[in-house]
Amino acid sequence: MVHYLELKKVSDSFQPELSDTIEKVVQSGWYLFGEEKKAFEEEFAVYCGTNDCIGVGNGLDALALIFSGYMEMGVMQPGDEVIVPANTFIASILAITRCGLIPVLCEPRLDSFLLDEEKIEALITPRTKALMAVHLYGRVCAMDPMRAVAERHQLKLVEDSAQAHGAMYKGKKAGNLGDAAAFSFYPGKNLGALSDAGAVTTNDAALAEVVRALSNYGSLTKYVHLYKGINSRIDELQSAVLRLKLKRLDKDNELRRRYAERYISEIHNPRIIVPDYPNHEGHVFHIFAIRVPQRRDELQSWLKEQGIETQIHYPKPPHLQEAYKEWATLSFPITEKIHNEVLSMPLSPVHTSEEITCVIDAVNRFV
Ligand SMILES: *Cc1c(COP(=O)(O)O)cnc(C)c1O
Repeated sequence: MVHYLELKKVSDSFQPELSDTIEKVVQSGWYLFGEEKKAFEEEFAVYCGTNDCIGVGNGLDALALIFSGYMEMGVMQPGDEVIVPANTFIASILAITRCGLIPVLCEPRLDSFLLDEEKIEALITPRTKALMAVHLYGRVCAMDPMRAVAERHQLKLVEDSAQAHGAMYKGKKAGNLGDAAAFSFYPGKNLGALSDAGAVTTNDAALAEVVRALSNYGSLTKYVHLYKGINSRIDELQSAVLRLKLKRLDKDNELRRRYAERYISEIHNPRIIVPDYPNHEGHVFHIFAIRVPQRRDELQSWLKEQGIETQIHYPKPPHLQEAYKEWATLSFPITEKIHNEVLSMPLSPVHTSEEITCVIDAVNRFV
């Protein structure tokens, strides 16, 4: 049996240090706003190459806190527009609508699954205030062209880096490629905690301060409230766990790349399209999605019978979700095609090379 992802194995691979780390925090008697949070924020900022990192409760909050921060700073007003890929995980879009902003959906490119930078400009209106670069599946968006558009129209460039811990673009890390970035440390992410956790990274000191306050009841000093904030904090336990796991992130990402390269070079099934993978990009393969233009669901059940678990990221695009029924009549053919064709293969640092071979053999045997 090849599972899609076994979190127990991930945890085991960090033992005995993981249990020691947890025990140390429990014994310290200090669970929020302590040394671990402070140290994790410093270490993750250094890792990304940014001046600031603010640990928060989860990835969705991290994204929403960036927009709330800009609104408190007067950079954005309710009703302003944010351009976002139509084929992202719904959290990217929920963060925008939660802040009273309007998501403007943009088609991705079929070959990279990433926002098509050539389609952005046609969507810009006088109310457009930001572009969201979602580094979907762990591959960084075309940041140079996106930055050029952002500069030309004075837009903020916000990264959704929830799937891109350690991903690189021209020598710089995801999280340090725009004006501000949001990370998720949901357990299944490349850098995952043992519960929900997230972070905002930025080089904008003013934004960092507002986000820090907003995440803690709008307060920087106890009982002094500058904004109508929320409670969204990373705790000491998750911070300590993430500090331990951060040390191995680059090595884990390297192994993900190696497995992805095997899938790319060894899957030879005319029914299947493997993603293109330009070597110069620091892809971290949070997800390895193949495209199966016909009979995708049949392939998935067939693999299941062979003992191989796969997933679909994502079965239904945001504009076809009940939550956004106001968009039900909109049409995004490329987005819809992607959602109908993608199938994610098992790929993680706790898979063995034999398991990857087993997946490749099975996929190649499908007729
Ligand atoms: C996981 C994820 C999020 C949300 O992160 P949570 O920590 O689950 O709130 C946002 N955007 C993308 C692209 C994600 O994959």
